[in-house]
Amino acid sequence: MRKILIVGNWKMHLNASQASLLVHRLHERIMIHRDIEVVLAPPMLTLQPLSVQIDRRKFRLAAQNAYFADEGPFTGEVSFTMLRELVHYVIVGHSERRRVFGEDLDMIRDKVAAAVRNEITPILCVGETKHERQSGETKQVLHDQLMTALHNLTAREVREIVVAYEPVWAVSNGTDWRNHEIAKPDQVAETVNYIRSYVRDVFGPKAASGLRVLYGGSTSPDFVHSFLDIDGVDGFLVGGASLNYHSFASIVTQSYDWQRQKGAVT
Ligand code: PEP
Repeated sequence: MRKILIVGNWKMHLNASQASLLVHRLHERIMIHRDIEVVLAPPMLTLQPLSVQIDRRKFRLAAQNAYFADEGPFTGEVSFTMLRELVHYVIVGHSERRRVFGEDLDMIRDKVAAAVRNEITPILCVGETKHERQSGETKQVLHDQLMTALHNLTAREVREIVVAYEPVWAVSNGTDWRNHEIAKPDQVAETVNYIRSYVRDVFGPKAASGLRVLYGGSTSPDFVHSFLDIDGVDGFLVGGASLNYHSFASIVTQSYDWQRQKGAVT
């Protein structure tokens, strides 16, 4: 059975003391759930202090980015090798990295490979823009993103990674997530099904059934049950709502309630 995974992407928000306070508040509100994995992706600077602060029975850490070379003359960058003691996960290919920092398909492929090489699980973000959806290109876009990103991986490695379906048009700017457009369950169902069928065709049924697929884009507690009801959705990559301890803790609690209702708690 795939474990529910909830990842909070704090983006470029919170200094070290604000981050510490948020972890403290989350710790008060989030119980230990054996069947739910809760992952925090704070800014790079705060990974180290938070790694000492977090209760590891409740939280794991993710980096929001890293560079694919292990070391070298790359001013300003941090490598996966440097992060391997600190984080379990790394977000790769977020639409903000693609759009604002010009990361292309090849760079994302190299980052996924570097993460796997360093035993950090990549959370590979894929998704189409509004224009691509309106032009009927969604599947082609996902196909190209998956094909390049997974190119160097074996079926066994693909089975262990996480793919986050994040339609670019549904991703908030971090503050407007309550009023932002969110994908409809049938749109998510269709795309998540496509992601798994692509993986099944290329890497086989074990990889397709083992891989975890998340939804991301203006997630709030209100939508948790309807998205988890979608076959093949294993959790959420949460941006704006993860900075609000009430909302993020409530997303975790709602996921647990959903799981209990389905009788899926061990
Ligand atoms: C994200 O940053 O990955 C994200 C999904 O953001 P939001 O939930 O704010 O749309």
